[in-house]
Amino acid sequence: MATHFIRNKSMWIVLVLILAFLAPYLRQCIPSSSTPPTPNISAPAKPAVTVTVPTINADSAYLFIKKQVDFGPRVPGTPAHKKCAAWMSAEFKRLGLSVIEQKFTAQTYFGPRDAVNIIAQYKPELSKRILLCAHWDSRHIADKDSKDKANPILGADDGASGIGLLLEIARTLQANPLDLGVDLICFDAEDLGDDRESAPNESVMTQASAEAKARTWCLGSQYWAGNLHKPGYTAQFGILLDMVGAKGAVFPYESYSKDRAPLVQNQIWNIAEELGFGSMFPRRDAGYVTDDHVFVMNGTSIPTVDIISIPNPPPNSFGSYHHTHNDNMNVIDRATLGSVGQVVATVLYRAGAGVFL
Ligand SMILES: [Zn+2]
Repeated sequence: MATHFIRNKSMWIVLVLILAFLAPYLRQCIPSSSTPPTPNISAPAKPAVTVTVPTINADSAYLFIKKQVDFGPRVPGTPAHKKCAAWMSAEFKRLGLSVIEQKFTAQTYFGPRDAVNIIAQYKPELSKRILLCAHWDSRHIADKDSKDKANPILGADDGASGIGLLLEIARTLQANPLDLGVDLICFDAEDLGDDRESAPNESVMTQASAEAKARTWCLGSQYWAGNLHKPGYTAQFGILLDMVGAKGAVFPYESYSKDRAPLVQNQIWNIAEELGFGSMFPRRDAGYVTDDHVFVMNGTSIPTVDIISIPNPPPNSFGSYHHTHNDNMNVIDRATLGSVGQVVATVLYRAGAGVFL
């Protein structure tokens, strides 16, 4: 019987010695409670930080575009241009941003014109900043139209759409505070460039003449790059929105952005794919576009990506309505605005949480 056995002292000693001898082997045989659980390979990996991204209101963005277009063509030096500038400044202030109006004379190929860059700053006291920009002027002529070529265009997509999204982002920032500085820069005089064919005897355009022609565009961003609104201004990265509101918009890789801001571009396109907009943001090269981001990158060290609709191969790369009177509210599509806006909002709120780049 057990009780009797353990009263025998010599047997106790033998038992203790046997156990001491066997202990290392016994330990290996006892199942450990710290054995890791079998991994569930079907469960998706969870991101380390969950970032809440507010929803961009496409109806609100649409109305911000309509309001600009209702002023008429916003050609520098015209009353409609002045009225629209005053309205934009007031809107950004109403939404809680602090506004700098940077006035300058645009030296266009057809003469000097009064122009103004409108710089709306969200949390100007913060040093960690992101730059978002678009142009707010509309083209002075309809050079790709078949009629009324000499008249200015409404520029609903080419101009007003990018600003409409910037205003909607300002509204979103006010309603959903972010621990990050954001500068929303509305460049003027982007679209007054010289797009005339070369003279017939100029069969091959020289490099110098091509560069001179390129500099007739983007006068507002060129001025800003040489006269930063704050000395030494910089930002982690920039995004330019140009023609971001039309039906059937397609945003392939713009090549200056790919060459000079590849990490930012790739991350933006990753987010677009993740949100289900992969077909709107195809990963194919669309060529080089002289646009405001080029001059931002020439004047600062801010890597800046152009999100610009290039739905077709040349020569009608930017769509049939481009630089015609058909660039009016009929081409604007809320679904496009909502998609682009949500991609940009996701970039911003992830950057605010430190999980974008
Ligand atoms: Zn244009």
